[in-house]
Amino acid sequence: MVYPRFMADSFWNFSEACELVGARYPAIPLGLITVAALLPKSWNVRLVNRNTEELADSDLDWADMVMTGGMLFQQSDSLELIDMCRARGLPVVVGGPDATSSPHRYESANFRVLGEVEDIIGQFIADWEQGVREGMYVAPKFQVDVTKTPVPRFDLLKFEQYLYIGVQFSRGCPFTCEFCDIIELYGRSPRTKSHDQMLAELEALYRLGYRGHVDFVDDNLIGNKKAIKAFLPTLEKWIEQHDYPFEFTTEASLNLTDDGELLAMLKRSNFFAVFVGIESPDTETLIAMRKKQNTRRSIPESVHKIYHAGMFVTAGFIVGFDTERGSVAEPMIELIEESAIPIAMVGLLYALPNTQLTRRLAREGRLHVDHDSAPAGKGDQCTAGVNYETKRSRLEILRDYRKILERVYDPDAFCGRLERLAGMLDCSNRRKELPEGDIRRRLSTINMVHELLSRLPEGRERFWKAFTACMSRNPQSVRAIVTLMAFYLHVGPYSRYVMKQIDRQIEDLEQGRFVAPKLLPPVAPERVAVNA
Ligand code: SF4
Repeated sequence: MVYPRFMADSFWNFSEACELVGARYPAIPLGLITVAALLPKSWNVRLVNRNTEELADSDLDWADMVMTGGMLFQQSDSLELIDMCRARGLPVVVGGPDATSSPHRYESANFRVLGEVEDIIGQFIADWEQGVREGMYVAPKFQVDVTKTPVPRFDLLKFEQYLYIGVQFSRGCPFTCEFCDIIELYGRSPRTKSHDQMLAELEALYRLGYRGHVDFVDDNLIGNKKAIKAFLPTLEKWIEQHDYPFEFTTEASLNLTDDGELLAMLKRSNFFAVFVGIESPDTETLIAMRKKQNTRRSIPESVHKIYHAGMFVTAGFIVGFDTERGSVAEPMIELIEESAIPIAMVGLLYALPNTQLTRRLAREGRLHVDHDSAPAGKGDQCTAGVNYETKRSRLEILRDYRKILERVYDPDAFCGRLERLAGMLDCSNRRKELPEGDIRRRLSTINMVHELLSRLPEGRERFWKAFTACMSRNPQSVRAIVTLMAFYLHVGPYSRYVMKQIDRQIEDLEQGRFVAPKLLPPVAPERVAVNA
C-alpha cells in the first residue's frame, strides 16, 4: 500500500510544527489502513507513506501488487506511481476520493476500485485470485453499512511519524454546501459506527501503545446529532477508565453552538479543538452557496461559545464566490479578528470535481478545460484556486485574497487573537500533564517555548509578550497557546509564500500577460447529471 505525496507547498502539512515535535506529517493514511483490514488474512501488507518515508525499489520488488489512492492534491504523485509500477510490470490498484470523482484520470491503473470499498473489495479479491489483472469496480452510492467496517490496521503505522492519529465515527453530512464533495462521495444521511466498534478502535490504539492526539476525521461529527450525543457518554467513560490516554479534535458545522449540552459533552470527552467551515462574512454569499446553517446568527458569538466550552477553533474561509459584491477583504478580516480565530485557513474557491458547484459551472460553460487535473507546480487551493471563469474581476479577487492573508498573518494581529482567545478558553477540566509517550509533552515545557521563539522568523518579541500575557490571563491555556504558536511556524511563512505567488498572478493580470485558460463548452443539464 503506497500513500501518494501531497503537493509540497500546502497550508495543511504544518511541516515546521511537525519538525518541532519530531513528527514527519500531520495525518495518517486512514483509508488505506482500513482497506488493509478488509484484505484476506493470508495476504502480507506493507505500507509506505510517501509523505513520511521513501518508497524503495526493494518495496516494489517485494510486492505482487500495489494499492494506492488519495485526494486531488495527491493526484500527480498517484499518477507517477502508477506509471512507475506499470513500467515494472507490477499491477496497480487505485481507489479513494479523487479516483472516484475523476475515474478518467486514472485509466492507466490496472484496477480502479471506486466509491466506498467495503462491499466491492470481495469481488476484486475473488477476481484477483482467479488471475484477473484488469478491471473496474464501482460501489453503489452510500450503501455501505459502516457498522461492519473492520478496525483499521493501526499496527501498520509508525506512530512517531505523525502529529495525530485519525479515527472515523460517521460518513456523510446532512447539509448541502454547493462547493463540497463530501455529500457527493458519502451522501447526506450520516451513517455511524456502533459504540463497541469505536471503543474497539480506541482500544486497539491504546494496546499498541499510542498516546496523544486522536482526530475524529468525520467531515461533520455532528451530522447525526442524536448518534454522537448517544456515543459521547460512552467515550467519556472509556477515557476516564483509561486515565485520559487521548485528547480529541474533529470537524463540525457551526450549528454545534446551538446545543449547549452537546458542547459540554464534547468538553467532558476531552475534545480540545474543532475545525469549522465559516467560509464567508457575507450572508447573501452563504445563502447562495447553500450554507444556511451559518446565517441567522452572530458568527463571532457562536465561535466564542466553543471557546467557553474549552475547545479552540480553526476555521476555513473562501474567497471567489459569484455573489461577492465589492471587496470581501475588510469584512472577512473583521470577522476573523472579532471571532479571535488564530488559525484561519483562507483559500481561493476551487471547483472540485463532483460537486454541485462544478456541475453548475459546467452548465454555464465557465469551467477551465483542465479543472479536474491537479494544479501544475507545487501549490494547493491557496495558490492554484479559481479554476473557472469568475463573475467578479479575477484581479479584484486576488487583491482581496492577498490583503486578507497579509493582515491576518501579520505577527501582531496573530498574537492579538491569541491573547483574546486565552481570555475566553475555558481549560478548567484540561489535565495539566499529558500521558507518558505523547509527543506533545515537549510542547508544554518552557524549553520548547524558547525553541519555538528562536525559530520564529520575525516578531519574536511580540510572540514572547503574547505568551506571557496568555499565561498571566489563563495559565491553563498554555498547551493550546503553544500549539497555535507552533502552527504559526508553518502558516506565517506559508502565507508570505502564497502572497508572493499571488503577487505574480496580480502583476500578470495588470500587465496584460495573463492568458485566460480555455473553457469547456457548456454542458447540457442531462449530460451533467450523467457525469455526476
Ligand atoms: S457542512 Fe461541511 S461537510 Fe457538510 S456539506 Fe457543508 S462543507 Fe460539506
